[in-house]
Amino acid sequence: MQAPSDHAEQLDPYSSGPIELQDDLEGDTLREECGVFGIFGHPEAAAITALGLHALQHRGQEACGIVTFDGSRFHSERRLGLVGDTFSRREVIERLPGSTAVGHVRYSTTGATILRNVQPLFAELNAGGFAVGHNGNLTNGLSLRRELVKNGAMMQSTTDTEVILHLVAQSKRGHFVDRFIEALRAIEGAYSLVALTNKKLVGARDPLGIRPLVLGDLDGRPILTSETCALDMIGAKYVRDIEPGEIIVFDEEGAHTHKPFPPKPARPCIFEYIYFSRPDSIVGGRSVYEVRKAFGAQLARENHPDIDVVVPVPDSGVPAAVGYSQYSGVPFELGIIRNHYVGRTFIQPTQSVRELGVRMKHSANRAAIEGKRILLIDDSLVRGTTSKKIVRMMRDAGALEVHFRLASPPILYPDYYGIDLPDRGGLLAATHTLEEMREIIGADSLAFLSIDGMYRAMGYPGGRDPANPKFADHCFTGAYPTHLTDHSEAEPQPRQLSLLAEAS
Ligand code: SF4
Repeated sequence: MQAPSDHAEQLDPYSSGPIELQDDLEGDTLREECGVFGIFGHPEAAAITALGLHALQHRGQEACGIVTFDGSRFHSERRLGLVGDTFSRREVIERLPGSTAVGHVRYSTTGATILRNVQPLFAELNAGGFAVGHNGNLTNGLSLRRELVKNGAMMQSTTDTEVILHLVAQSKRGHFVDRFIEALRAIEGAYSLVALTNKKLVGARDPLGIRPLVLGDLDGRPILTSETCALDMIGAKYVRDIEPGEIIVFDEEGAHTHKPFPPKPARPCIFEYIYFSRPDSIVGGRSVYEVRKAFGAQLARENHPDIDVVVPVPDSGVPAAVGYSQYSGVPFELGIIRNHYVGRTFIQPTQSVRELGVRMKHSANRAAIEGKRILLIDDSLVRGTTSKKIVRMMRDAGALEVHFRLASPPILYPDYYGIDLPDRGGLLAATHTLEEMREIIGADSLAFLSIDGMYRAMGYPGGRDPANPKFADHCFTGAYPTHLTDHSEAEPQPRQLSLLAEAS
C-alpha cells in the first residue's frame, strides 16, 4: 500500500505558523483543543468533511487536515491555518479522492504548532494504513511515549495522540479492532477519536465521555463529529451521541458497536456548555444556547444589583446575558460591538499603537451605555486581563457603574483534558479573593455563578452531588475524574503496557 500523497510539505506561506498578535481582549480566553469529523461511503467525502470542519472551526484555528481513502490509496492534506484558507480551494479537494474521510481542526495543548503535529496523523502499519484524529488530551501520554521510545519507537510528532498509532502498531492482536481496543485500554484521559483504515471508519469515546462525539446520517451515510452544528452545516440528520466507552466501526457490512470497558458514570466536560461548544449545538441532549440562558437566569437569581442595562461580552456572553435580562426584567443592550473581520493581525510597532489595537476586535457602543449603570456578563474569567480591559473600555465610554458577572464558577484548578488553561498560578481566582479580583478588574461589583447554581441550571435542583457529580467540573472543584499519571508525582508508576510487557 503506497504512503498517502501528502502535500503537507507545501507550506501555505500565509499560514506558516501563527504570527498573530493577539488582540489583548482575546489573550485571556480559554481555547478548546480540537474538533473531529469522519464520513463513510460518500462520493464527496472530502468536500463534506471540509464543510464539517468549517462548522467546527471554533474548536481549533491553528491547523486542519483531511485524510481520505480511495479504495487503493490514502490521500492527506494537512495545513497550518484556517479551514477556509485551505479547503475552499477546489484543487485541494480534488487531491483528496475517495468515499471515506476523516478530518481534524486543531488548537495545540500538547505539541507545538508545527506541521508534523497537524492531524489526522497517518501511519503505515503491517495491516495497512491507519489515520487518526483526536479531540482531548491523554493524561498518561508522556509516560507512554517514554516507554515506547525506550522500546525503539520512532516518534514523528510531539503530540500525545501519536502514542495511539504506536500502540496499535505494536499490538500482537490479529484484527484491527482488537488492536485498537488494546491500545485504548493503555491510554487514560480524555479522547474523542475518529480513525480511518482501508476498510473502516472508526469512532471512539473515552469511558467517561469527557469530550463530545455524535453520530449523524447523510443520505444513509454515517458521520461522526464533535458537535451537531457540523451535522446542521451539511444537512445531515442527528442519530445519537456516541456513548462513553463506546467504539463504533463502520464497514461494508454496516455498523458494529463495541463496549470493552467496565461501565462508569459519565463525566462530560461542563465547559462544553459554558464556552466550548457552539450555541446552536445539542450536547448530551441539551441545547447549549438554552443552558447558557439558564446560567444567566441563575446568576440573576443569585446576585442582582441595581442596574439599568445588561451587556454581554460578545459572542460567548450573549446567551447568558439574554437569560439574565429575561429573568431580571432589566433591558438587554449590545454595549460592546465585536468586529468579526479581525482575522490575521499584523505586527504593531509601538505599545501605544498596540493599545489602540486593543479595540480592533471589540469596541464600546456609547449610545447603549453612556450615563448608565451596566452589568457585564462573560462566560468565564481565567487571568482577568480581558475583564480589566473591558471594564476600562466601558468607563471610558461613559458608563456610570460597571458590575461584572461570570456565567460560570471561579476557575481554581488547571485542566489536563485538552483545554489550554494556565497552571494554578496563572488563574486569577486561584490566587486572589473575590474582593481583590474586583479591585484588579476595576468593577463596582463582581460575582460568579455558584457551583450548585450551575448544576441547578443544568436541571439538578439539589445542586452538585459530590458523591456522583454528573459532569467533569474539576477546573472548579479539583475533583479530577481520571488518574493524572503525567501530572502527579504522587501517581503510582504508570501501568506496564501489556504489549511491551509481552515484548520485553
Ligand atoms: S477541567 Fe474539566 S471541566 Fe474544566 S474544561 Fe477541563 S475537562 Fe472541562
